[in-house]
Parts: sequence; C-alpha cells; structure tokens
Amino acid sequence: MNHSKSTRTDTLLARYALNFVGLKREFDELRYFCKGTVLKRMMKCGQQRCGCHTDPTKRHGPYFEWTYKEKGKTLNVRLHPEEAPVYEAATQQYRKLKSLLLRMEGLSRKAIFRFARKARVEKSHLSNR
Ligand SMILES: [Zn+2]
Repeated sequence: MNHSKSTRTDTLLARYALNFVGLKREFDELRYFCKGTVLKRMMKCGQQRCGCHTDPTKRHGPYFEWTYKEKGKTLNVRLHPEEAPVYEAATQQYRKLKSLLLRMEGLSRKAIFRFARKARVEKSHLSNR
C-alpha cells in the first residue's frame, strides 16, 4: 500500500467531514420554506377610460402573487401586501435549501468516491500479503 497516498486520502476525508459538519449547521439554520416566487404586479383595471390603459405609471397596485408549480401546473395565490414579505422570505429559504442540498450532495459524492476507493485499495492490500 502506498503510504503517502493513504495519508493524502485521510487528509481529504477529514476536510470533507469538517465541511459536511459546516453544511449541516447551515441546515439547522433553515426556516420554513416554500417553493415558487413572489410576483409584484401593476394592473390595468376594467374601465376603458381609466388612465391605466394608456399610461403605465398609472396602473393600479402593486398586487402580489405567490406562484409555484405543483404536478406540472402553475398555481397563483393572491397575497395581501402585508403577506408578501412572509412568502418572499420562505421562497428564499427554499432556494437556500436547494443550494445547500446541491453542495452537500457534491461534497458527499467526493467523500463517497474516496471511501469506496479506500475500501477497494485496503482489500487488495490485504489479499496481496
Ligand atoms: Zn385603471
């Protein structure tokens, strides 16, 4: 068995383990989350003579909507202006969760690769004696 290579693997694995603990700590900090986005819209009304139809700055609103996909369908939920920040924060948490999950998966993949190779190398080392 190549001793220096084994040490390098162990150093890497120790670093991965430390990084993984750090990511789990970020996981702990997650708050309630929901997928989707919060949209802010200015709308035209039904009255044809209203200024909103010709002047974009005279449109009504803002109106807020939380929009998300479920089973391939896009759903829209009208929100009160006071509710919008709550949903906005929750959708940010969801994006944070997804990025965290990706980073944990990437890190896991690297660690698993090293563990698997280590297991293989150690077994062949034993059988070569
Ligand atoms: Zn109008």
